[in-house]
Formats: sequence, C-alpha cells, structure tokens
Amino acid sequence: MTQEISGASPLGFATRQVHAGTASGAAAGRGGAAADGINARATPIYLSAGFVFDDFDQARDRFGGAEDGFTYTRIGNPTNAAVERRIAALEGGREAILVGSGQAAVSVALLALLGAGDHLLSATSIYEGSRGLFLDNFARLGIETGFVAEANDPLAWELGIRPETRAIFVESIPNPKNDLVDLALVAEVAHRHGIPLVVDNTFATPYLLRPLEHGADVVVHSASKFLAGHGAVLGGVIVSGEGFDWSAGRYAHLAEPARVLGGRSYAEQFGADAFISYARDVVASRFGPTPSPINAFLIQQGIETLSLRVDRQSATALTVAEWLEQQPEIESVDYSGLASSAHHELAQRYLPNGQGSVFSFTVRGGTEAARAFFDALGLFTRMTHLGDVRSLIIHPASTTHAWRSEQQLQEAGIWPGLLRVSIGVEDAADLIADLERGFAAARAASGAAAAPVASGAPRAATASGADAPVDLAERVAS
Ligand SMILES: *Cc1c(COP(=O)(O)O)cnc(C)c1O
Repeated sequence: MTQEISGASPLGFATRQVHAGTASGAAAGRGGAAADGINARATPIYLSAGFVFDDFDQARDRFGGAEDGFTYTRIGNPTNAAVERRIAALEGGREAILVGSGQAAVSVALLALLGAGDHLLSATSIYEGSRGLFLDNFARLGIETGFVAEANDPLAWELGIRPETRAIFVESIPNPKNDLVDLALVAEVAHRHGIPLVVDNTFATPYLLRPLEHGADVVVHSASKFLAGHGAVLGGVIVSGEGFDWSAGRYAHLAEPARVLGGRSYAEQFGADAFISYARDVVASRFGPTPSPINAFLIQQGIETLSLRVDRQSATALTVAEWLEQQPEIESVDYSGLASSAHHELAQRYLPNGQGSVFSFTVRGGTEAARAFFDALGLFTRMTHLGDVRSLIIHPASTTHAWRSEQQLQEAGIWPGLLRVSIGVEDAADLIADLERGFAAARAASGAAAAPVASGAPRAATASGADAPVDLAERVAS
C-alpha cells in the first residue's frame, strides 16, 4: 500500500512530482486510482459528469458533507482531485483547486476574498490579463484596485493600503521584466495590516520558488505554462497556505454564519481551510470554471517532468541571456540570472536553483529592428505563450501590452525594441544560431533605414546605422 504524500513530506521535489496525490492501493481514498479496483498506475481520466449514489442516505450525506465522495464534476472530480493534491504537495500548501485557466485561478482566488466596496492592492508589474481583470471586470463589480510600482519599497505598500484593502497581489517573477519581488518584505507589510498576500507563481513554478515558504498565504498559477509544459491545454490552480487567521472581522463571508453551513461560519467549520473551502464550494463551483478531466490528466503528465524541464530551461536561458548581453545590437537584457541585473541579489536569495526561462531583451533600432529580428527567426515560435518545451518569442508593445498608453509603456520599460522570449528545452547552440539570424536581419533593417548599404557588405558594414555601437567591428573581427 502506497502512502499519501503531502506538502509536509520529507521526500524530494522530483519524487513528489511523480508520486504525490496518486497513491495506489486502498489508502488512495478520494480519487485514488484504486477506487475502481483496477489499480491503474497513471491516474485514470474520469470523464463523467456525475457520480453514482448507492442509495438515498449516501446522496444526502455526500451533499451534506457527512460523507466524503464525489457528486458532480463541477464540484469535484477524481482526476482533477489527484492533480490538486499533487500541486498542493509541490507548493507545500494545504489544499489546491484546479480550474480551467490561469485567469480563472486569479479570478476565483481574489473573488473568494473581495466583494463590492473592497480594495485590492497589486504590484504594477503583472501579467496583462490580470491587470485587465482588475481594471475592467473587478472595477465594474465595485472592487477598486490600487497599483504599487515600487514593489520592493515597504513604504510604497504602506501608503497604498486602505481600511478596505482585502488582498495584496504580486507575481513572484513579474512579466516581462523579471523585476523580482521580495515576497517576505511584502508579506510582512500585508500581515501587519491583517491582509493576505496572494502570489502568482506561474513564471517560477514550485520547483524554483515556493511563495508559501516566504510568507505568502495563497498561490495561484497558470498551469497552461510550465506545469503542463507541452502547450497543449489550459489550466489554473489556487493553493492555500498555513497560518492566516480567516476568523478576523475583515472577512465577514468567512467569519459570519454561512447559509450553506447550517449557521456555522467557514472559519468555525474549516479553520485554516476556511478560505480554500469557500473558494471551492462557493466561488469555483458556482462561477463554474471547471477543467475537463482530460486537461487535468495532461497537466499531471506535464508535472511529472517539471523539475527536469525547468532545470534545463533555466540553464539554457542563462546561457542565452549571457550571450545576448554580449551582442552589440543589444540595449539591455532583463534577466535576474545575470550579474548585471538590478534584481540579481533578490534572485540569489529567492531563486538559487535557477531564474526561470522567460525574460526580455531590447534590440537597438526600435520597432523596425524588433520587427526584422522577429520575422527572421526560424526556430523560435512567434506565439503568445510561455513555459513551453519549445522556445517562443513575442513583441509585447504591439501585442500583449498594446492597450497601454505610451507613458505606461515607458514607465513599465516596455520599449519599442523589447522582445520577450520563453526558452524551451532545445539545444542552446541552435537557439543562439537562430537569434544570430535575428540580429543579422535587425542590422540590415537599421542599416537600410540609416543609409544605403552595399549589398554583400560584411556584417560590420551592415550595422552602420546611427545607433551602431562602436565596438561592433571589434566583435566581428574576433
Ligand atoms: C498566462 C498567465 C496567466 C493566465 O493564464 P491562462 O492559463 O492563460 O488563463 C496568469 N498569470 C501569469 C503570470 C501568466 O503567465
């Protein structure tokens, strides 16, 4: 009989990523692979809308919570539950809820904390989809969002907190500038005000960073990215941590008698699990962003190789970033793994095992150079996604960040020449060769824009644009 592996398990990460949440044998219980007596090693895909009740009493008890078990897939599904247990174990959390996308995870987590009249305080440097959710959707529901640009300045958070602030939201590795957040610092400010810290850990993955260990109270992910890794499905997950007191007066929906708990409150009934139980029973199951068990299965397949992929991707990303930084056509590379990064010290503290695979760099020559670079690539995929086994590239200013004003783009450092990459598991040399093609095209484009260049001119000559760096000839000669 296999034991159940939880977040508190002493087993290593790589062991947990293939074993947690799917114990075979009778101990598997809820969602265990042995539930059907067949003992499949891989978690079966329970593609069923509902689950049969033996009799009247069992139906009543499953609805009433007196008996553990499944009723209807929107409320819970054995395949989805196996993935939830595994992700909770990897994040070192208490419980997890699997939902249909990362956006659904951010929505469910925050709507389990916030209601009309409440205030959300978020770092400025976040995923554009989350920013849109806060600015367009939450605003219309009466939830106002404040933004903190200086996410590592405790005073900036202090100044942003209001009496009605009910959640603080940051990303562990912000998109796309890698401007890391000191999670312990933000958690300290949040907790001093009795506010939970919610961290989007998509870019870091629990392999590189576990925010709950640094004071976060809730972790969310887009499982569509690294957790799945194959880029075949979407998914999202919400993980709850220990320690936050949900019975405090700020969260009336958790601390006051609940309609569905026969007069008891979520805090009384579930204690440390009040938030995640409410998020599951009242928010996720009612708004209904239920993942297909097929997608859950595919996410679980991905998770089984998470550490192997992220190790490789981080190492290759560092190699590529270091190479990029040496190229004369480069204005800047935003990767916290580089010693030149303003966030390198934080990276050493929070990301000692690798700094992830998503970063941005800015080519000289603005939009036209970026366009030429982008269009010349043959191996990198032009696509808005990340965490894939294949390397991907996007031009944020004209796509993901296109709705930001010129000033907002400037403030966020989303320059016209900035490109974001997500490094896959390919060989570094092949990726670098592809990027060389991009530089050749960018040089040709800026050379053509500045002055006509003789065809067949050597590389140095084609880069004779106004902003051509002085050391180019030297590099080409070497
Ligand atoms: C992709 C992403 C999301 C949204 O996830 P989906 O699965 O696309 O809905 C949220 N946060 C971050 C940091 C992301 O990269």
